[in-house]
Amino acid sequence: MIQQGNFLLMERNEFREWLKKQVVTRPIQFLQVHHTASPNYSTRKMVNGIAQQDTFKCLEGMRNYHLSEGWAATGQNITTLENGQIAISLDRPLNRIPAGIRGFNNKCICIEHVGNFDSGGDKITDEQKKTIIHLYACLAERFNLPINTDHIIYHSWFTRTGIRLRDFTPGKSSKTCPGTDFWGDGNTVAAAKKNFLPQIQEELNRLKGQNKNISKGDQPMTIQEQADFQALQEQVKQLTSKLSMDKIPEWAMEACVAAKNAGAVDTTSGGSYDFYRLITVMYRKGFFK
Ligand SMILES: [Zn+2]
Repeated sequence: MIQQGNFLLMERNEFREWLKKQVVTRPIQFLQVHHTASPNYSTRKMVNGIAQQDTFKCLEGMRNYHLSEGWAATGQNITTLENGQIAISLDRPLNRIPAGIRGFNNKCICIEHVGNFDSGGDKITDEQKKTIIHLYACLAERFNLPINTDHIIYHSWFTRTGIRLRDFTPGKSSKTCPGTDFWGDGNTVAAAKKNFLPQIQEELNRLKGQNKNISKGDQPMTIQEQADFQALQEQVKQLTSKLSMDKIPEWAMEACVAAKNAGAVDTTSGGSYDFYRLITVMYRKGFFK
């Protein structure tokens, strides 16, 4: 994790733990999905899949652009990069309402994905894809949001004034963002449901499975543990049956009758194994006559 200037840059596997420590008091109901359009993989100067441009330069460049537009801070709360890294905007912490979708930012976290994912633009890298899926799953986990198009929202589903449309509608939607070829599927509601949301759901399930493994008590017994447990149950059953036997053992019957006739005991049923042994020994020694 590196903090420099106005951003905190981290690896994908650092995000979930970082997120758990953040204090967010404003309500969060929506996770926005954007592409930056510019910067993109060209301005990042990609050579063999590796950006030659300094990442902080890219991030500060975005921020400077937003400030030049009269905004108070970087618009988005979070940015993902082509190498899979995640940048947190220090001047737009999670607890601060973002500037992502004009007229629809309240209760939102704004996430910008660096790249131009309109048709004919950038082909998203596998690393960035993995990070994006993990990121939304972590946010959904943290803020307890269902994975659907009511809560994970594309910019393209909103008008210029922030009215939610039923779908991306050319002429009515304010932008094509996150790109007409986002995720290789597009920017429509059907496109989001095709691969993007199911992949986030799958990742969320995986994360929840990890939680279960942490609290070992919730784990089902292994085959060996089951066998041990059964053996233990059998032993307890035998021990308790010896304490109070269902019926008088055959070998103690004669002794019991004699002991009762002699007035030595009132009752001889329901005794323990040791009781019947002792009665038998006494009978054989001639105590009951
Ligand atoms: Zn957007």
